[in-house]
Amino acid sequence: MRLSKLHVVTLRDDPADAEIPSHRLLARAGYIVKVASGLYTYGPLMWRTLRKVSAIVRSELDREGALELMMPILHPKELWTRSGRWDRYVAEGILFTLKDSKGGEFCLGPTHEEVITSYADQTVTSYKQLPINLYQIQDKFRDEVRPRYGLMRGREFIMMDAYSFDADEEGLDASYKAMDRAYRAAFSRCGLTFRSVQADAGAIGGAGSEEFMVIAEAGEDEILYCEESGYAANVEKATSIPAAAPDGGEPRELEKHSTPGVKSVAELEEFFHLPAAAMAKTVLYSATWPDREAVVAVLMRGDLDVNEVKLAGALDCLAVTLADEETIRRVTGAEVGFAGPIGLPEEVILLADKTLEGRTNLLTGCNETDFHCLNVNLGRDCPRPTFHDLRLARPGERSPDDAGELKQARGIEVGHIFKLGTKYSAAMDATFIAEDGKPRPFVMGCYGIGISRTAQAAVEQNHDEKGIIWPVPIAPFEAVVAIVDVKKSEQVEAGERAYQALLDAGIDVCLDDRRLRAGAKFKDLELLGFPVQFTAGRGAGEDRFEVTPRANGEREELPFDQAVARVIELVQAGRS
Ligand code: ATP
Ligand code: MG
Repeated sequence: MRLSKLHVVTLRDDPADAEIPSHRLLARAGYIVKVASGLYTYGPLMWRTLRKVSAIVRSELDREGALELMMPILHPKELWTRSGRWDRYVAEGILFTLKDSKGGEFCLGPTHEEVITSYADQTVTSYKQLPINLYQIQDKFRDEVRPRYGLMRGREFIMMDAYSFDADEEGLDASYKAMDRAYRAAFSRCGLTFRSVQADAGAIGGAGSEEFMVIAEAGEDEILYCEESGYAANVEKATSIPAAAPDGGEPRELEKHSTPGVKSVAELEEFFHLPAAAMAKTVLYSATWPDREAVVAVLMRGDLDVNEVKLAGALDCLAVTLADEETIRRVTGAEVGFAGPIGLPEEVILLADKTLEGRTNLLTGCNETDFHCLNVNLGRDCPRPTFHDLRLARPGERSPDDAGELKQARGIEVGHIFKLGTKYSAAMDATFIAEDGKPRPFVMGCYGIGISRTAQAAVEQNHDEKGIIWPVPIAPFEAVVAIVDVKKSEQVEAGERAYQALLDAGIDVCLDDRRLRAGAKFKDLELLGFPVQFTAGRGAGEDRFEVTPRANGEREELPFDQAVARVIELVQAGRS
């Protein structure tokens, strides 16, 4: 293909809303053009890359025996009501909903568990048809609160979504492992440096869930990992071994102390000459369910912090937010800073972190302005809270396997694999006849790869100040032949010959035959980021050509045949 006919439109300036390098570069190089917030047109060159990412993902899934199909984007509300997700997703504001001319309600699919479960129910009758793993590559729609970073968080984006159906848990384990293999192979082939991490399994809990993270500064996710043991988890899910707390000893009599103006943990440490780990702070939250709201009091060791994802998981609610001052005053009857577990109204749900289980003689707030209580014993002085892991793990703490220290990194979630179990099949009454002749719900897994996000993540990991450095397997073209001056016949002739020779060798190559000043052309090509460049310039008349790998920019001057051979060699090295 000739760049003169490829509608290459590069910009001189970064778009104002581009905050991270990959977004800046993709927009400036004309790969993506914004339509509205979170909506983009992928230009012809970007579409080549997206098709290559899809092809890689497809081939790895096919290798594991998954089957491609295509489901509708438009979903009837009725399906989502059966799974119980319609109200939840509408309350979260993530669902794009619409009505047909007869008033029937629909949504644009943000994910397809409902549709695929219904498909399996209609087409799979016997255990003999299992296992089966079905996938599609399609646009998904999510009304994200904060669309940003270009393709990273769009409102319409391309996703590979797969769903496995098994007769039992062992089957699910095998399907899950196969997907794990396919993901690793696919992301490696896309030229990404990634790490799989344990992920929050939401309200379903228990079952396995892993996210595939591309390590990058710009990542929206925080990861904690231990080099010694290989433990790695999204901070939403991570656990650790916190520093030990002092032993409170035998329960002593409750004491109330006047603490005028003393509110913060640090102030309390000084006032009582006690370490923060001897305190239980009371953090008040407002929790929301689809049909109700409640105030929640979380007791947390004074030196530790609440993990709001774990809290929402323990409550099985849509969201938790810190209670506002008015709510705090209403339920505690005190100014902010003096909340405690004793004497809270019955409406308040009391939870405590596991690190407080069995602890005695704690220092807490009193629900009375300017007072704190010493020797508080949970269950004796206040209702016994339910204990959960609600703690935010932090870098520097011991990893849960005690093998080493936790370190921190940032990641972009490009894929997610998830053991669903019978959550959807049971809710939607999707069953098959098992070997014993009895109907059983399918044991399911679901799996997603953000195709468009993956393509941008590759740019986030592979660029320099001049532009993009595409990994060969997903580059729009593996190589470019640049004719420096299209008015010079020997350059044109040599360029055309090199282009043809590379095409014949099976290289996905393009020819830059644009009428552009040499400087502008080279700058443009650096921005566009094709992995290898063959340059037919002034030396063409004397059989001197340049070969330049985009990654290191180190030019090599070679005679024609050797230059062509060198391009082939570099591309082939980049393919594997
Ligand atoms: P996130 O936590 O980033 O919002 P998610 O956990 O909601 O993502 P999944 O439902 O697991 O996403 O979707 C599967 C994959 O689809 C993700 O791993 C990600 O790569 C991609 N993805 C999800 N939301 C978006 C989006 N708004 N824009 C682009 N890609 C997305
Ligand atoms: Mg996810």
